[in-house]
Amino acid sequence: MNISLTFGADGIALLTFDRPDSSANIFDVPTLEELDSHLAALEARSDLKGVVLLSAKPKIFVAGADLNSFAKNLAPEALGAVVDLGHRVFTRLERLPVPSVAAINGVCVGGGCEVTLACDWRVASLDKSTKIGLPETQLGILPAWGGSVRLPRLIGLPAALGLILAGKQLVAQQAQKAGLVDDIAHPEYLLAAAKKFIAKGKRPPPAPKGLMNSALLRPIVAMKARKDVLAKTRGHYPAPLKALEVCVTALGRPLEAGLALERAAFLELVQTPECRNLMRIFFLQERAKKLKASDADGAGRKVARVAVIGAGIMGSGIAQWTAARGYPVLMKDVAPDALAKGLKAAEKIFRDGVKRRAFTAAEATTGLDRIRPVHTDITLAGVDLVIEAAVEKLELKQKIFQQLETRAGPQTVLATNTSALSIDAIAGGLADPGRVVGIHFFNPVHRMQLVEIVRGPRTSPAALDTALQFVKAIGKLPVLVKDSPGFLVNRILLPYMVESVRLFQEGCGVEQIDRLMLDFGMPMGPLRLSDEVGLDVAQHVAADLQSRLPRPVPIDDTLVRMMTKGWLGRKSGTGFYVFPSKKGARETPNGQLAFLQTAGKGRTQDAATLTDRMVLVMVNEAARVLEEGVAGAPEDVDFGMIFGTGWAPFRGGPLHHADTLGVAEIVGRLEKLAAEVAPYFAPCDQLKEMARARRSFYPAQ
Ligand code: NAD
Repeated sequence: MNISLTFGADGIALLTFDRPDSSANIFDVPTLEELDSHLAALEARSDLKGVVLLSAKPKIFVAGADLNSFAKNLAPEALGAVVDLGHRVFTRLERLPVPSVAAINGVCVGGGCEVTLACDWRVASLDKSTKIGLPETQLGILPAWGGSVRLPRLIGLPAALGLILAGKQLVAQQAQKAGLVDDIAHPEYLLAAAKKFIAKGKRPPPAPKGLMNSALLRPIVAMKARKDVLAKTRGHYPAPLKALEVCVTALGRPLEAGLALERAAFLELVQTPECRNLMRIFFLQERAKKLKASDADGAGRKVARVAVIGAGIMGSGIAQWTAARGYPVLMKDVAPDALAKGLKAAEKIFRDGVKRRAFTAAEATTGLDRIRPVHTDITLAGVDLVIEAAVEKLELKQKIFQQLETRAGPQTVLATNTSALSIDAIAGGLADPGRVVGIHFFNPVHRMQLVEIVRGPRTSPAALDTALQFVKAIGKLPVLVKDSPGFLVNRILLPYMVESVRLFQEGCGVEQIDRLMLDFGMPMGPLRLSDEVGLDVAQHVAADLQSRLPRPVPIDDTLVRMMTKGWLGRKSGTGFYVFPSKKGARETPNGQLAFLQTAGKGRTQDAATLTDRMVLVMVNEAARVLEEGVAGAPEDVDFGMIFGTGWAPFRGGPLHHADTLGVAEIVGRLEKLAAEVAPYFAPCDQLKEMARARRSFYPAQ
């Protein structure tokens, strides 16, 4: 039983969502059918005053449709039947003769939000877990259980489009401001607040929502929304455009006609490759949450206390994130001023989080208080996990780890956040090198979900499992990788950044190069990315990888020459772009770069060839990462690149992209580039072998 139905002495029925053996409520076919039969029972009662929908789970109201069960049968007839069932049941709820109220505490998204839209009234709890929204377009579909039809009627077309097209989720206060909920309450008073609305009776039919909903202005609202979507998605994502069309058209039609539009659009979108790739990303995310190292599972220890060594960009970010998840953190640096800077950085992240309502002010204060700054060599005996994030120098890290071995307890796991150094080399001088593992966070820590867990050749199962369990416990998404130069993400990203610099050096324009990759679907152009990373850092990592990889993409001296001018990218104000100091002003291409350019091949190549040079160099490296066992499966490679770099999500990652084009086609194009541009484009053995055997990275769907 997923939903219980109880009747109170006050004449109010409670429909309580409580899926057995799960922390979440979701809508699958049995749950929808159960709701349907409860509604039939409610219709039969003559003594009923109203009904309240609520959840028995502490952090989840209803987390949407059960994608696992629906993905099993994507045939239009099967999915159409599921859409019809949702439409029928939710409309039945809407048409109950008595008023209905949703008492929303916790995550209320997708189908969860849509069931509340069919209620007369909505009350949301002020608990931090409460998030209300319709994220379907992020999965390549649209809200199709009435959300695309009911939300614009409730809150007006512009506000509804704002939510649906971006898949935004609102906390209680924001939802109230948007008109999505009618009241807000502390969780303890939520039910009482909801019951009050029963006395108001059925909600009157929505009054026309002002001028912006009028038939006259609808096309103008739609045109602006379309322009915004295209600017953001560059036309790569069909779902927001389809959702826009349905929301706008349905607004002028009766409910049933609107629902029919929704259904047709859903069945169309679900068959698109973009939808399939976005759904796949969702499942890859679920896969990462359950990740285990098969030979180390259960060997680790539970982490209660953490120490972070280094209070720089990464150390302060890791300390902040960990403290925000309830762990006491010792943050150690060499000097008080470095610590003060680190604490200030952590405080800023908390403060910004309060502004975004990710934390209350009290939670931010408590979180910050959990960070204990130290600059002396205190004992770390009571610490379960140390994460080192000092500067990227092997000798320094080796020294730090030798000291850690004497200061920490015998069970303490010692992790390093190194971007590229060898875990095994860092552990080299220790009596027990098995306790060293890599936990590689990405910058900025509070935004990037991916963490590479790096297993050195001598890393013990206990250290590995401790790192893995800890990363999952703090809500990050782990990927397991071998101790190898650049690990997974930087290894694949670097050749691409190097190639983009070479194209510039060969005479291509800065904006031209970046635009090509934005058009491909990357979140940021590669030269702009170099500026953000810092040209000195990019050069250092590229040179380091070049010296340690057997077949590196060669680097030229462009970045070094830029560095001698003091151009380090954003941090110095100038790089490939000039970053104005005025807040909000846009960067412009650096006009003084011509002296670095020659008339090379790139200058005369067409857009497709230039794009291939940057994309296929990544595909080749991604295949090598798999070939060398740096990652265990194509899923790991694609997941790492999407979550570590924002790699064109609708293309499903570099290896999935290789399958889409065909491995033989990739090999052909790489061979052509190797012959016409430079030998380093030669396809790796794995790709050649796969092309010969007509194999793909993933089984054919
Ligand atoms: P940073 O220069 O901002 O900070 C390093 C800090 O370490 C400084 O505050 C310094 O005072 C401190 N430090 C130096 N020696 C120390 C010692 N013996 N004990 C304690 N503290 C010491 O550097 P960062 O960007 O935060 O990078 C830290 C590590 O994380 C490096 O290994 C780097 O490769 C890695 N990393 C960096 C990024 C990034 O984008 N910045 C991303 C992932 C990983």
